[in-house]
Amino acid sequence: MAAIQIEQLRSSVRGVIVQPGDETYESTRRVYNGMIDKHPALIVRCVDVADVIAAVDYARTNNVLTAIRGGGHNGGGLGTCEGGLVIDLSLMKGVRVDSVARTVRVGAGCVWGDVDHATHPFGLAVPTGFISSTGVAGLTLGGGIGYLTREYGLTIDNLLSADVVLADGSVVTADAENNPDLFWALRGGGGNFGVVTSFEFRAHPVRTVYAGPTFWPLEQTVEVMKAYRDFILGAPEYVNGFFAFLTIPPSPMFPEHLHLKKVCGVMWVSTGPAARAEAATRPMRSVGKPVLDQQGEMPLPAVNSLFDGLYPPGLQWYWRADFVKELSDEAIERHAHHGAALPTMHSTMHLYAIDGAAHRVGRNETAFSYRDANWAEVIVGVDPDPANAGTITKWCKDYFDALHPYSAGGAYVNFMMDEGQERVQASFRDNYERLAAIKSKYDPANLFRVNQNIRPAAT
Ligand SMILES: Cc1cc2nc3c(=O)[nH]c(=O)nc-3n(C[C@H](O)[C@H](O)[C@H](O)COP(=O)(O)OP(=O)(O)OC[C@H]3O[C@@H](n4cnc5c(N)ncnc54)[C@H](O)[C@@H]3O)c2cc1C
Repeated sequence: MAAIQIEQLRSSVRGVIVQPGDETYESTRRVYNGMIDKHPALIVRCVDVADVIAAVDYARTNNVLTAIRGGGHNGGGLGTCEGGLVIDLSLMKGVRVDSVARTVRVGAGCVWGDVDHATHPFGLAVPTGFISSTGVAGLTLGGGIGYLTREYGLTIDNLLSADVVLADGSVVTADAENNPDLFWALRGGGGNFGVVTSFEFRAHPVRTVYAGPTFWPLEQTVEVMKAYRDFILGAPEYVNGFFAFLTIPPSPMFPEHLHLKKVCGVMWVSTGPAARAEAATRPMRSVGKPVLDQQGEMPLPAVNSLFDGLYPPGLQWYWRADFVKELSDEAIERHAHHGAALPTMHSTMHLYAIDGAAHRVGRNETAFSYRDANWAEVIVGVDPDPANAGTITKWCKDYFDALHPYSAGGAYVNFMMDEGQERVQASFRDNYERLAAIKSKYDPANLFRVNQNIRPAAT
């Protein structure tokens, strides 16, 4: 990239510009997934909207491959790129809670832990994900699945507005009244339409929850999974529990005799009084013979960060995902087979229920198409050691190949690697065409293409 243009950019931003050779380059270029090893030529660490405008103008004028980074968590490494520009928003923090209106304004560089920290003292919560270090921006723009989904919907169902720097450098607000087409597309369409600089969310009165896991021996998987399938979709919406295959970590949280045992389980989180939650989950917790059944009252931010320690940045991750409408007995048999073969301690398979409030929004009301799916399934091979990258990848792909025929066809875009156009289209179904038309209005040259890309419709 020409030095003179970079100097011009440097003079117009208040944030930090990082280039290869700079002291912080190595740490700044890295993203959460240690399997991703890309070397951008330029990283602009923006501190305000003016910086974002300058970076977008630079990218467009110089026709530079451009990635947008919020929390840097994306499995496929879409928060960075090889040889191009990264617009890094992670310094743009700041959360303002309006406790009367129950709304929250969030800077695009926040991670969900920042939001939980700010809303919890007010007894409020925004529906977020299952780990606190995930970026608000990427998670929201893809949809947002978490513990509060059944009761309060996806994160996008609680999005009220977003400020966006468009590809031409102009700044707009997208909400129900202003640029409603853009607002529709941002709710599930990912980072295709511009750089979001802040989000405004609706918050809900949730302070503490009743939460914890029930684990069963793997031999009981088929019985437990069938019971879970039948239980969760009929459970009250204040109950959430995702099904998982996992290895119990050697942590003081768990009895020593269970350490490193592979199990299947449900991680419960219910809102409201403990007694109500305990009673509502009891039928499922009484299935078979659990080896552990450990729930208690906890602050929601504590639950949202329970897995942070187990999954620090830098591990190797290989992802595969699908939406699931029905869990047939045959699919369950296949799950039992592949789940029992977890290749490493960190590897796992989760089934997240996405019914309840998430089903009360129509499949064309936002860009997130799979409103008729009951679960988002995600299979992740994870390990700290790069030498195991091949093993976790193979297990993940084999598992996915075995279960894909039983899926609804597409996947949650935030759980995908870089899997090609066909897969992107399958995930948006009949919303794709409308997304492509909106893309051609707001980003006709496809400047923002380091993402699950929606190609601009030919005009
Ligand atoms: C450990 C882990 C746990 C997860 N748990 C959940 C979960 O519980 N629920 C869930 O729904 N998802 C979950 N995810 C998936 C997560 O939603 C995606 O990885 C998401 O892309 C992360 O967002 P980010 O901002 O951290 O990502 P980044 O890597 O920074 O960005 C990802 C994509 O988002 C776009 N983007 C980022 N910021 C902006 C912006 N400001 N404006 C426009 N586009 C932008 C970029 O184009 C990029 O393509 C999890 C991921 C991990 C690694």
